[in-house]
Order: sequence, then C-alpha cells, then structure tokens
Amino acid sequence: MAIKKIQKQLFGTNGVRGIAGKEITPELTLHIGKALGTMRPGQIAVGRDTRTTGPVLANALKAGLLATGCEVIDCGILPTPALQYIVKEHYDGGAMITASHNPPEYNGVKIIEPDGTEMGDEETIRLEELLSDHSIPVRPWNQVGTEVTALHLVDEYIHAVASQFEENIGRGMTIVVDPGSGPACQTTPAILQALGCRVLTINGVMDGTFPGRLPEPSPEGLEGLAALVLASHAAFGVAHDGDADRAVFIDNKGVFVEENDEFALIVQHICKNAKGIIVTPVSTSQVVELVAVAAGCTVQYTPVGSIYVARTMRQLVETGNPVIFGGEGNGGLIFPNHQFCRDGGMTAAAMVSLLAETGKSLSSLIGQLPKRYMIKEKISTTHGAQLIEGLGKYYEGESVDHTDGLKIKRHKKWALIRASGTEPLVRIMVDAAERDAGLDLLSEIKTSVSEILDELP
Ligand code: MG
Repeated sequence: MAIKKIQKQLFGTNGVRGIAGKEITPELTLHIGKALGTMRPGQIAVGRDTRTTGPVLANALKAGLLATGCEVIDCGILPTPALQYIVKEHYDGGAMITASHNPPEYNGVKIIEPDGTEMGDEETIRLEELLSDHSIPVRPWNQVGTEVTALHLVDEYIHAVASQFEENIGRGMTIVVDPGSGPACQTTPAILQALGCRVLTINGVMDGTFPGRLPEPSPEGLEGLAALVLASHAAFGVAHDGDADRAVFIDNKGVFVEENDEFALIVQHICKNAKGIIVTPVSTSQVVELVAVAAGCTVQYTPVGSIYVARTMRQLVETGNPVIFGGEGNGGLIFPNHQFCRDGGMTAAAMVSLLAETGKSLSSLIGQLPKRYMIKEKISTTHGAQLIEGLGKYYEGESVDHTDGLKIKRHKKWALIRASGTEPLVRIMVDAAERDAGLDLLSEIKTSVSEILDELP
C-alpha cells in the first residue's frame, strides 16, 4: 500500500502560501471560503496564526463560508494542531490562515478535513476546480450562514494533550518555551505547566511583526532561547514554527538538537514501550530507521510531505496495522494516539515525559544516538523530470526506491534526488554514517547528473 503524490495547481504540500496582498489576497481567500463552503457544507471552524494579515484574510474567507450557508466557528488565534483537534472533535471541516514557517510578509490557508487531517491531493484538486468556477451561487438572505466566536475551544486542546501523560510527570523540571510570538504562546506553556513543569518563556507575547525572531525556528534565531536554557539550568528549550505544528529543541547544554535526532530519540523511547510501524518520508535520516529496527520496530516510507505521512498512518491503522508513531525530520511529529497530524505542543510534552522516564539529560540521550551526516544541495535545471528518469536508468542495477523522486540506497548511506514542484531545480540529499562517505556519494551523483543533462536534447 502506498500513497502517490499528485501535482496540484495552486496548493502545495501544506496548503496554499505566498506573499499576502500579492499572491494571497482577500479575493482569493473569499473564493477559497466559497469553494470550501460548497464542498463541505456545515459547521466550519476557522483559525489563524499571529500574522498581521490574518484578520483581513480570515474575514474574507469567513465571508465566503457564510455566503454559501455554512455556520462559521471562529476560533481566533491558535496553533494549527489545536484547530485540527477541535475540528476532529466537533466540526465538518476547518480552515487555518497561516504561512507556517515563512517570513512575516507571507500568509496562506491550510484546509482541514472533518477527521482533523489536512486535505489530501484529490480533494484539493476538486477544491481548486471550484476556485476557478466563479459562478458558485451565494445563498439568499434567509439562507446565509451564521457566525459564532469560540475562543475558549483552545483549552480543550491544551487539556487533550496534557491528559495523554501521567499527572505531574514534569514536576521539578524547568523548561524554556520559545513560541516565536506565534499562537503557541497560549498553548505550549499551559500544556507544560499542566504537566507540573516550571515554565519560562522567550518571545512569549503574540505579535505578527515577529520582533524576536522569524517564524522558522532555525538555530541562528534561537540563541536567546539557548542562553535562557543555560541561565535557568533548564532541562531543555523548545521552539515552534509560526503555526506550532513543529517543535525543535535546545538541549540542557544550550546546543540545538538536529531534528532527525529529535525524531530518532522519541522513536527510541516509544519503541521501548510498543512494537510496530514508524511512518516517515523518504527524506528522513537513516538514524530513525537504525534506532527503530534496533528496538524491534519497522519503518514505512512515504513521499515527502506531512500529509502523506498522516494519511499513510491512518490507512495502516484502518487496515489493522500497529502504527505507533510518525513524522518528518524537521520537528513535525505525529502521535497517533492523540491525532493524525503534526503537533508541536504534543512533541514538547512528549520530551518532558521522555526525560522524566529515562532520568537522563537531553544532551546525554542525544549523544548515544548513531551519528549521521546529512548534506543537501540544489541544482538549477528546467529538466527535473527527465533528469530523474535518466538517473533511474543510470542506477537501474542498484537498490533504488521511487516513492518520491529517486532514492539510491547503498550500505550505510543513501542519496535522494527530487525535482521541485514549484521551482526550476532538483534537490539532492545525502545521508551517511561518515561525512567523507556522504561527500563522495554527493560528488558521484553530481557527476552522473551533469552527464545526463549534457545528453538531453
Ligand atoms: Mg508549520
């Protein structure tokens, strides 16, 4: 069983995104609202992150939903996983106004299905078709929808995450949270306090100008967090992206934890208590598979994109397979007992539980993981698809995987070559146990790439 990627026109892997006012206009979100309201008539929950353009775009989207007769539940500012949880529990669908990790001038929309997952490829293509149909009828005066404000619903999410863990499991632990002025300001500190932790925050006031750092939680932006972790002798620091479906960590020594290592550490912990399948994209470092297999679990790979991970996990569960965990190597982790979507607040809470149960420091736990080196490179070309096909033939005799692009698997290392869906380039990723071995494989791939591109007409 495998989910295949289908190319969409407007929407990418995680919704539609672009510069607000230019690519993402109120006119566009109005049409998205009308299209969604036509496809999913009923009660639709709407949320947004802290971006300055959120109210403009959310109001236009709500107008489209109301005009097509939907009942709108405005959940205000909250993390994407919180809206996903609320939709799953109560409503017929949802729309989140967010540009996730993109810079402040961006914004976008993620569509949430009734089960809380992001809308899949086929349904999104249907939505795109409706978007280009400007004759969608609006309801007459006595059939338009109504709107209610439900800012309190975010508390249900906080409670749902906290109730996944033993009471007071974080007692005695100091944690520093960096929500990056985003919607997790009102959720992650509350979740960790509910677990008994002492919580300090940095960039803890919601602000769409992002005065402290950009929405992408990159190591460079987290120096303040690292300093506060050291100064407060905290167990760890945790930071989110702009809509808090991802969580990244600073260990007790103030060092940024590479996201694949974060994933592997939680896999190792979950596999101690349960045996089953871990689901992740082909782009995830082998460190995850190494620790999963060592603990008696298996890994199922998917195309790149959290939606493919989430949907594969759900399908496997529905067909009676023991799926215990999933996620991406970017801090976007999925806990199937909670919900089938990436959840940054849940990930922060899971780290508290992991440290409490092991009794060890985060830095020492990271230190015991198998070492991996990941190298990424881009090559400009307008012949991405032909190049991948050519490479497929070139490496035919080897162990290869076509789940997404081309993955060439060798002993203790692999290379992944994928054509970008939106830009004229191919991305190469190499993952190896030693840096030199990774660099050798990268230069070999680049040589074959130039040979193939030279031969193209
Ligand atoms: Mg995100």
